[in-house]
Amino acid sequence: MDGEVVAPGDVVGTAEEYLPGENVEVDSEGKLRAQVMGIVIRDNKEHIISIKPIKNNGLLKMNDIVYGKVVALPNDRVIIVKIISVDNNGNKVSLKDDVTGIIPPAQLFNGKANSAGELVGIGDIIRARVISRGPPYTLTLRDAQLGVVYARCPRCGHVLRWRSGELLQCPNCGAVVRRKVSLIEYWG
Ligand SMILES: [Zn+2]
Repeated sequence: MDGEVVAPGDVVGTAEEYLPGENVEVDSEGKLRAQVMGIVIRDNKEHIISIKPIKNNGLLKMNDIVYGKVVALPNDRVIIVKIISVDNNGNKVSLKDDVTGIIPPAQLFNGKANSAGELVGIGDIIRARVISRGPPYTLTLRDAQLGVVYARCPRCGHVLRWRSGELLQCPNCGAVVRRKVSLIEYWG
């Protein structure tokens, strides 16, 4: 059925029926699986099946979990984030347009106004929660599940690996970096 919404990994057909189009891959059993969350498009003339990704219109709701890139740390007290995606029942849905998020000092860590640079670095990807209604979006990091999910080595640029607790380590040069790491996911 056309117009059906699927999640990444969902079976959308078999390699005998269709050729994989955009955002569709063939698994080892010859099943066609969606690679993104989106709408199924079947071209029955060319026998191609593809997925049109669903993009968020940039409107976020209170308590939405978002992922964003740290772009600035004004006065080392505030974190400015470019929000790139929003969690939708476990799927990360990309935002159509650039949306800015602001994490004020009170939302950094247990309400204590720490140095922002002790928690995150510029270029890190963080997981945060929306606590305002409408733009400009205010975000919080005050939860163990919120924090850095991806960071690169400040010395050599290699992707850092999670070591333990709040410590990340560079597998290339050995540098150990402290971050407020999200306790439920780290992508490195
Ligand atoms: Zn390094």
